[in-house]
Amino acid sequence: MSDLATNLEQLEQYLEPVRNHGISHFINGRRVESTDNATFEATTPIDNSAFCAVARGTAQDIDIAAKCAAEAFPDWAATSGAKRREILHAIADAIVARAEEIALLESYDSGQPLRFMKKAPLRAAENFRFFADRALDAQNGLSMPTASHMNYTVRQPIGPVGIITPWNTPFMLSSWKIAPALAAGCTIVHKPAEWSPVTASLMAEIMFDAGLPAGVANTVHGFGEEAGVALTKHKAIKAIAFIGESSTGSKIMAQGAETLKRVHFELGGKNPVIIFDDADLDRAIDAAVFMIYSLNGERCTSSSRVLIQRNIYAEVVEKITARAKAVKVGHPLDSTTELGPLIHPRHLEKVKSYFQSAPAEGARVAAGGKQVEGEGNYVEPTLFADANQTMRIANEEVFGPVLTAIPFDSEEEALEIANAVDYGLTGYVWTGDMARGLRMAHSLEAGMIWVNSENVRHLPTPFGGMKASGIGRDGGDYSFEFYMEQKNIALAMGAHAIPKLGITGK
Ligand code: NAD
Repeated sequence: MSDLATNLEQLEQYLEPVRNHGISHFINGRRVESTDNATFEATTPIDNSAFCAVARGTAQDIDIAAKCAAEAFPDWAATSGAKRREILHAIADAIVARAEEIALLESYDSGQPLRFMKKAPLRAAENFRFFADRALDAQNGLSMPTASHMNYTVRQPIGPVGIITPWNTPFMLSSWKIAPALAAGCTIVHKPAEWSPVTASLMAEIMFDAGLPAGVANTVHGFGEEAGVALTKHKAIKAIAFIGESSTGSKIMAQGAETLKRVHFELGGKNPVIIFDDADLDRAIDAAVFMIYSLNGERCTSSSRVLIQRNIYAEVVEKITARAKAVKVGHPLDSTTELGPLIHPRHLEKVKSYFQSAPAEGARVAAGGKQVEGEGNYVEPTLFADANQTMRIANEEVFGPVLTAIPFDSEEEALEIANAVDYGLTGYVWTGDMARGLRMAHSLEAGMIWVNSENVRHLPTPFGGMKASGIGRDGGDYSFEFYMEQKNIALAMGAHAIPKLGITGK
């Protein structure tokens, strides 16, 4: 049953202060405006109306925030793992306490259906708890003794880091970067996406109110080309953790070259879900449908290409078509909605460009393929069938509820099609033959493979992509590899022979 009216009423209560006070930066424990007082408008994709002013950060605001992060760094790095653990758990508690507010605001700001956004704050809290418990061991290294020396490694936080995040599930994704950085002992400057700024400010306030010292976590709003660029070039910032488009990743790498930034990139994907004729078809279809039409298809790990063995192709396409047509499009704050509006009119135009190109290139429109009439950035859940790997729709990341179906004959052909893209984030294989599942898993060019499963995350495992999908891994200890420096310490255990120079007569 629709709960839209109740949710809208509830949202009003949380939206009122946002409307009245706008969205500010959060630097050194305080809400602050831009030094030049510039702002931009936050809009909701439900009807593209503006609902508040957002501080528009410049290089000067980034400079202030980066210097605060640098000043706060020595104390935070020296704070015990136990204390960091306590504060990160307090942040998780505070996120859970404000989960409803975060979910409603994020749904309104990003257009993501509430049914998914309800879970996002809880996932973010889990991320904080997971890394809170790892803070105690973050510095641990290895012992590598030789006969003459005691060698051991320690890990030390790299310094202030810049975190740049996208708009698709902004609150949860930012936690995925912020929590390990803080657990490692780094201080941060966060530059959230300009199309979904609201919950980033909540995150900053929540962390400070939960006991994070002033200056440890700073948030500067603004545009990628302005605040983002300045952050990636700032000398005090030692590393950039970035989630976003592959082309932006290239730019960030170039921007950070002069200051030798360490970078960690989680980028785009064009992920295959490969269905063999011996698979449990109902489960495979459930997973493929979920992974493309959930979160508005605006998910990096979406199953955006479905490769189907030819002898089951017609049956599977027919079943996915029926499911796509039945996906419930609607207001994101209605809990029964499965597909909400796309984030922004510019993104809508990008997604719609495939509605033109796919049929023009010879794909069949099995479901959707149109914008939904009326206000807001709504599109129909779409399935393009009978595609081949030469088409744009089979190579480019759409980042919307658009699935491309391609038939294949053999395991070899499936692999060839799957690997024939620039991206390499995830791959999903459905088969009853475990040996084949493993063969495919080992040969697929992707950082994460699920066999007979959708994207089910286990936080200690490495998350990240190959090829144009990323550099580096998050999750478990892998995150600390990025946020920390490895240091080797060698201690002589006795009087080993030291080569002597400058001794006359020898
Ligand atoms: P985007 O690259 O346009 O923007 C991401 C962030 O980068 C924003 O905060 C933006 O302001 C900033 N930015 C833009 N240009 C910049 C520059 N030159 N220097 C510094 N910062 C800059 O991406 P988006 O459209 O917000 O997000 C969608 C993309 O994110 C998709 O490609 C998606 O696949 C990817 N993504 C990847 C993962 C993953 O884990 N691999 C997860 C979520 C999203």
